[in-house]
Amino acid sequence: MTKTPPSIIALDGPAASGKSTVGRRLANALGYLFFDTGIMYRAVTWIALNRDMNLRDEEAITQMAQSAQIDVRPPTQADGRAFDVIIGEKDVTWEVRSGDVDANVSLVSAYAGVRKALSEKQRRIGLRGRVVMVGRDIGTVVLPEADLKVYMDASAEERARRRYDEIIERGEKADYEEIFNTMIERDRLDSTRAVAPLKPADDAIFINTDELSENQVYERVLAMCAP
Ligand code: C5P
Repeated sequence: MTKTPPSIIALDGPAASGKSTVGRRLANALGYLFFDTGIMYRAVTWIALNRDMNLRDEEAITQMAQSAQIDVRPPTQADGRAFDVIIGEKDVTWEVRSGDVDANVSLVSAYAGVRKALSEKQRRIGLRGRVVMVGRDIGTVVLPEADLKVYMDASAEERARRRYDEIIERGEKADYEEIFNTMIERDRLDSTRAVAPLKPADDAIFINTDELSENQVYERVLAMCAP
């Protein structure tokens, strides 16, 4: 008898641990929805920066997050994107990945009200099932009932190198030191915040991806889905 694959799959881990790439492939293979929750925090941060808001004004940022119209649609361009991120009518798919957003997103995502607004939406979508949801707190807070929880990690040097390569591949300029430093600081803020900090769920399967290729990680996670 073949087992049915897990319906709700939570992939968590720090920046550039490889979870989005694996999650995207896994969702494609299973015919599931791929949901990258980091995009929502990035979009809120992008709006705040774009409107020149004071990022330390928790109340104003929270109100904006509650009403923000963030649209994630199927990709209209073949430039490596998994989806289009639209705010208003503007395509901000790559802008939400800018260094400026990287440097400020952890401040914004630490606000309890912002987390509540975004994670309620994530939970509603996740509970429909047949979903691969990627983030920091999916297995611990957003979907603790997930059927499969994987926590991926790698050394900061390796993760910064991967992020650097990605940016260069897109034909943009990148500074390794700057990426490394921003990433360390982002991980520190994400794992020490009071609400929903980055940490593995007690029942998550841990994968260290330092010595593994993208393909090896994918095959491992796929094997957990189709035993
Ligand atoms: O995954 P990604 O690097 O795009 O996430 C950007 C930021 O969004 C993280 O550094 C974190 O501050 C926040 N985030 C979060 N909870 C999630 C997903 C992302 O706090 N579930």
